[in-house]
Amino acid sequence: MEQLSNEYLNEAIEDCRPYAVNGNVNTSLPNFDDTLRDKLGVSIMTTDQNVYSAGNSTHCVPMQSTAKVIALMLALHDFGKERVFQAVGMEPTDEMFNSIGAIESHDKVKPFNPMVNAGAIAVCSLIKGGNNDNRFDRYLRFLKQITNNNELAMDESVYQAEIANGARNRSLAYFMQSTGALIFDVEAALDLYFRINAVMMSCDDFARVGLLLARDGIDSTGKRLIPPHHLRTVKAIMMTSGMYNSSGEYAVDAGFPCKSGVSGSIIGVVPGRMGIGIVGPAIDKKGNSTAGGALIKKLSKDLKLNMFRTESTY
Ligand code: GLN
Repeated sequence: MEQLSNEYLNEAIEDCRPYAVNGNVNTSLPNFDDTLRDKLGVSIMTTDQNVYSAGNSTHCVPMQSTAKVIALMLALHDFGKERVFQAVGMEPTDEMFNSIGAIESHDKVKPFNPMVNAGAIAVCSLIKGGNNDNRFDRYLRFLKQITNNNELAMDESVYQAEIANGARNRSLAYFMQSTGALIFDVEAALDLYFRINAVMMSCDDFARVGLLLARDGIDSTGKRLIPPHHLRTVKAIMMTSGMYNSSGEYAVDAGFPCKSGVSGSIIGVVPGRMGIGIVGPAIDKKGNSTAGGALIKKLSKDLKLNMFRTESTY
């Protein structure tokens, strides 16, 4: 077994960086172009308060789908598990994260799960606040508490790009409005979804989200931010659906809950042990960072992080 250290992470980054060649940078995001292809960074924060990082760990990217994890935490806090899962399913899907067909064929009311776009838009309609400025403010305050980073903010150009490129998400939302899946104004749910996608974070920030989950809701100051039973739900949903339609592969090859975003970000959670934050902007066809995904699997193997493995199967 490898020992976790900055030197080990530096080597791991160099081993995994070449996997970027198998992916493409999502150029629909502002300032994302092929010059980002070879960027790869990682931060790891352990439950015993150690911090390790390597590569381009300070490079900030928009949260994109990693925001779905935070939205789910808030909706569970605001409405409870029963109500949230009346609006959205719990099951993994083999369809793409923005599939239109999936929301009609599966269940006439619910999207598959909170980690696909339709599911997250439905979840956004379950965040309290009265209006979107307040809802987003709550989201950002919660995220600042989790990450211990008061500088976090939405990038206006990313938000505008989400609006401009949002036809697909609008289609999903309006379809759900027709089935009764959205409990408040469809445009408001979409607008909140667009805003949360546009918050900029670094590997440290992503790792701290993972650490909160690894510590069952206790933040770095020892304060409980969210009850453990909600986080049990969030971790289970990340495990089964967090890597989109590659979630089964990651359950097998990583064996701990992860969530990715099309900015190449990944949040990893090793319960009781560590939070992992990765940024590697080249993504595969399903939306997962190719070098970042390789790194998740390597860390799992080298550091024995797979919860389904026992000593004899490493
Ligand atoms: N902004 C992207 C979208 O809504 C986020 C999706 C993702 O990261 N998979 O399609």
